[in-house]
Amino acid sequence: MKRTHYCGEIRKGDTGKQVTLTGWVHRRRDHGGLIFIDLRDRDGLVQVVFNPERESGIHQTAHELRSEYVISVSGEVAPRPRGTENSKLPTGEVEVLANHLEILNTSKTPPFSIDEEVEVAENLRLKYRYLDLRRDSLRENLLFRYKVTRAMREFLHARGFLDVETPCLTKSTPEGARDYLVPSRLNPGHFYALPQSPQLFKQILMVAGFDRYYQIVKCFRDEDLRADRQPEFTQIDLEMSFVEREDVITLMEEMLAEVLKQTKGLEIKTPFPRMSYHEVMDRYGTDKPDIRFGLELREISDIASESEFRVFRQTVDQKGIVKGLAAKGLAGLSRRELDDLTEFAKGYGAQGLAWIKVTESGFESPITKFFTAAQLNAISERLGAATGDIMLFVADKPKVVNDTLANLRLSIARRLNLIHKDEYRFLWVLDFPLLEYDAEEKRYVAMHHPFTSPMSEDIPFLDSNPLRVRAKAYDIVMNGEEIGGGSIRIHTREMQRKMFELLGIGEEEAVQKFGFLLEALEYGAPPHGGIAFGLDRIIMLLTGAESIRDVIAFPKTQKGICPMTDAPSPVEKRQLKELHLKIE
Ligand code: ASP
Repeated sequence: MKRTHYCGEIRKGDTGKQVTLTGWVHRRRDHGGLIFIDLRDRDGLVQVVFNPERESGIHQTAHELRSEYVISVSGEVAPRPRGTENSKLPTGEVEVLANHLEILNTSKTPPFSIDEEVEVAENLRLKYRYLDLRRDSLRENLLFRYKVTRAMREFLHARGFLDVETPCLTKSTPEGARDYLVPSRLNPGHFYALPQSPQLFKQILMVAGFDRYYQIVKCFRDEDLRADRQPEFTQIDLEMSFVEREDVITLMEEMLAEVLKQTKGLEIKTPFPRMSYHEVMDRYGTDKPDIRFGLELREISDIASESEFRVFRQTVDQKGIVKGLAAKGLAGLSRRELDDLTEFAKGYGAQGLAWIKVTESGFESPITKFFTAAQLNAISERLGAATGDIMLFVADKPKVVNDTLANLRLSIARRLNLIHKDEYRFLWVLDFPLLEYDAEEKRYVAMHHPFTSPMSEDIPFLDSNPLRVRAKAYDIVMNGEEIGGGSIRIHTREMQRKMFELLGIGEEEAVQKFGFLLEALEYGAPPHGGIAFGLDRIIMLLTGAESIRDVIAFPKTQKGICPMTDAPSPVEKRQLKELHLKIE
């Protein structure tokens, strides 16, 4: 049964060799006595030919072969007859002339075809995931994923990082999501939480002196899965001692550039561009802008407030803002198309969408009459609009304006084909505010997490003006997706206490939830910082997969279900009893 080659490896240079292959019958074709098989394994396909005149002994067996049978074949590698080569296959110049065949196992007819990339209902794909994973695109995604993690491990290993495992049964780590809880049989009424991230353990490893840690690790967050999310996902998590923000950023740029070079053959220029949180919000309306194209937003509140246009003026009077963008060459949009854009804007909470076309004969819009010529010129100049463009504006509270225009910007970029699929653009977003005000809960919340250090020069404002304090935090964005984020941490007990105080977490609650960390900080905690990347998202972006589920071997559906194993499922009464639980 021993194989000499993987199917996808055979080349013209192997001509004349006797090879033994194992794999699955991808396709079978009968041609007047000759039987052709495409034999597949994880490496690819090769054509095998059964010729009754050469080897009559195995011909009957070859007749019995069906899709997905598992076989072992031996034979001689030969060039395909001229004119029958297949330039699309790496093995397309050769075939294997079989002289030995053994059926190792049969297969039922699969519920969907594996040899074509046809659309199959996702539930069916996930139920028969082992068949789904035999299909080209998924197999390639998983192989690519391995390439990426391997390149990352090698990079980190070469720089002295240690892979240390941290527990899955642990205590809640605040990353802003709901915890998955696991009841403790031995401690009735007590629960473990599955980690939302190894944040506190990696910090404690720094206190323990391990200096450089990394882990490719599962994290669990019980969120609604409306977006393309998974209840368990993988992070590349790392932490370093005796570093400043610059050290982490530089090393990570090097790592990403190296990974892209090794896995995609791309040369990515470092250093990556950087922008402050305020700058990205101002120019793009989002903290994860796609910078592969322009279409930047510009604020015109100052001009708007002096115009006669009531909607704009009132908005500015009530502490709102007016921002806009110039959509290149779209002055020809019809009334209907503008209505659609307005509906789109309303989907993000905007009251409406104002527009002004820049045409040969001047500015065109129902609202031009409310502006002086000088104001119109000032607006179009600020937006960088030229003849043939349309300027689109939203006036509202800053959050609504930014949300709406950020999404409008993306939608227009798609419409104008401004997004190049194979281009990878990274961006660091820095100088985030340390805190946000949660109007509902009437308290400050940490923008990243409560262990993020404030900028040294902003510490004096912690008491007088907390919202002005910036964090030593950094996010990394690739093509408009946040792929990672981290920070320099608080490493003194006093500062951590202060932070909890600002967040309205009392001493007692702090000790109950994070007592172990607070204590550890008192035993010689070194300055430290780190970052975590979302592996699934990175692989998705690099493979161009449509969904995060297509880059994970065994993902869950949008409802958090695994159709293959049927998890989650009811348990026996006896088990509940052992866990001291009752289902209401
Ligand atoms: N623990 C953070 C997260 O999971 C990342 C970090 O600060 O290193 O988002």
